[in-house]
Amino acid sequence: MSPAKIFVVDDDEALLQTLGWILKDKGYDVVSLPNGDDLLERIEVESPDLMLLDIMMPKIDGLQLLEGLKSDDRWTDLPILMLSSMPPEEATVKSLNLGATDYIAKPFRVRELLARIDARLKEARELKRVRDEARSRAEMVDILYEVTDSLKPDEIYHILTRRVARALQLSKCSMVSAQPGSDTGVVVAAAENPMLRNLEISLANYPELQAALEGQRMVLVEDVHTDPLYDEVRKTWERDGVGVPTRSSIVLPFSLRGEAAGVFFLRTTVDDAPLTAADASFAEAVISAALNAIERAYDLEAAKSDRERFQFLANTDPLTGCVNRRAMLDRLERELARGRRYRHKLSILMIDFDWFKKINDTRGHLVGDTVLRKLGDILRQEARSADIVARYGGEEFTVILPDTDLDGGTIFAERLRERVEKFDFSEVGDPLFTTISIGVAAFSEDEEISAEAMIERADSALYRAKQAGRNMVHQ
Ligand code: GH3
Ligand code: MG
Ligand code: MG
Repeated sequence: MSPAKIFVVDDDEALLQTLGWILKDKGYDVVSLPNGDDLLERIEVESPDLMLLDIMMPKIDGLQLLEGLKSDDRWTDLPILMLSSMPPEEATVKSLNLGATDYIAKPFRVRELLARIDARLKEARELKRVRDEARSRAEMVDILYEVTDSLKPDEIYHILTRRVARALQLSKCSMVSAQPGSDTGVVVAAAENPMLRNLEISLANYPELQAALEGQRMVLVEDVHTDPLYDEVRKTWERDGVGVPTRSSIVLPFSLRGEAAGVFFLRTTVDDAPLTAADASFAEAVISAALNAIERAYDLEAAKSDRERFQFLANTDPLTGCVNRRAMLDRLERELARGRRYRHKLSILMIDFDWFKKINDTRGHLVGDTVLRKLGDILRQEARSADIVARYGGEEFTVILPDTDLDGGTIFAERLRERVEKFDFSEVGDPLFTTISIGVAAFSEDEEISAEAMIERADSALYRAKQAGRNMVHQ
C-alpha cells in the first residue's frame, strides 16, 4: 500500500516545518502549504487522504475553506482535522458543524495528534471500502436484471461484456468459448466490437487464456510487459517488432452444466489503470450470478419447438432454474404410479433454510435471492440425473429420489446438509454461511398414497428437524 498523503495547511512557518518533519518521519507523504491560496487546485491534482487545516490564517479563514471543500461532492469523504488555538468549545462546534472530522487544539501533544491521524485514516479507508462495495453491488444487480430478461445466450454474452466493460471502464471485454487443451477459441461477444460474431483466435497468442483454461481458475495479469507468463510471447513481439497496447488482463473460466465452456476475458490498455484483485472479484461475481440465466437460455434454445419452449417456461422456476411446484407435483404423482406398478421405492426430501429471514433482513432481499439460486445449483450438482430438484415455495426446496429407500434418502440429505453448512454463499463482501433443515419421507412399494400426502409426510419430518434445533435431518 502506498503511504497516505497528508496536506498540512498552516500560516505558522515553524509549525508547518515541524509537522512536516514529524509526519514524514512516520512514513506519511506530506504536502505543506503556508496558506490556502492554491489549495483547491492542489487537492484536485494530488488527492490527499487527509488534511490538517489551521482555522486562523491571515488572508483566508480556515472555516471558510472547510465549508467550501465540504460543499463539493468530491471531498465529502476527505477527513479534515482542524487545528486552532481558538477557545476549544467555540471552534469545535463550528468546525464539526461544517463537516470537519476532528478538532485539535493548539498547542497539541504530538502523540495525540498522530493517534488521531491514524484513526481518521483508518476510518476513511473503511468508508471507501464500504462505498466501493455498495457501488459494485448496485451495478451488479442492474446487470443481472438486464441479463435475466434476455432469453438468448448470445444476447446475454453481449450484455455481460458491454456492461462489465462499462462498469470497470475497460477498453476490452469479451466472452471466449474454449475448452482446456484446445488450440483455438471462438470469441462469441466483445464489448469493443458489438457486431462481432464467432471470431476464431489462436490460443498460443494468449498465454493467460491457456493458463486459465488448463487450471480452470481465475488468472490476473497486472502487467503483460513484465509478467513471467508472457516471457515466450514477449520474445515473439520483440522479434516481430510488435507494440502491444494491452496493459493488464483478467481471465475467468466458467462452466455450464458442469462442463468447461469458456472464459470471460477483460483487458485494459497501457493508458488505463492496471486491473486489480477487486476488479477480478467484481467480474467473478457478475459472471457467476449470470450463469444461471445463460444455462436457462441454452436449455430454452435446446427445446426446439414452440410447444417445448412454452412447456419449459411453464415448468421452471425463473429464479433458480429448478422445476416449479406444480410441475414437481405432476412428476411426483407419475413417479408414485410407476413405483406401485413396478414395485420401485422412492423417497422425497423437503428442505427449508434455517432463519432465512435474517439473511434478507441483514444482507437484503437480492442477496437472499442469490442464496436461493446457489442452493438450486448445489442440489442439481449433487443429484443424479433421474432425481427431480424443485423449488417448492419461497425458501423451500424438494428433491424426489426415484429408486431410493428411506436410508438412501437420509444419507443423501445428510450429505447436502453438510455441504451447505460449509458453503460460502456470498458473492461480494463478507462471507455468508447458513444452514438447512431437511425432512425425509419414503414410499413403500405398494402404498396407495397421493403426492400431497407424501409431501405432508416429508413436511412433518422437516418440522421435527426444526423443533430438534435446526441444521438437522429427520425422518
Ligand atoms: P425457520 O428456521 O423457522 O425456517 O426460519 P425462517 O426465517 O427461514 O422461516 P420463515 O418461514 O418464517 O421465513 C421464510 C422467509 O423466506 C420469509 C420470506 O421473506 C423469505 N423468502 C421467501 N421467498 C423468498 C424469495 O424468493 N427471495 C427472498 N430473498 N426471500 C424469500
Ligand atoms: Mg426457513
Ligand atoms: Mg419456510
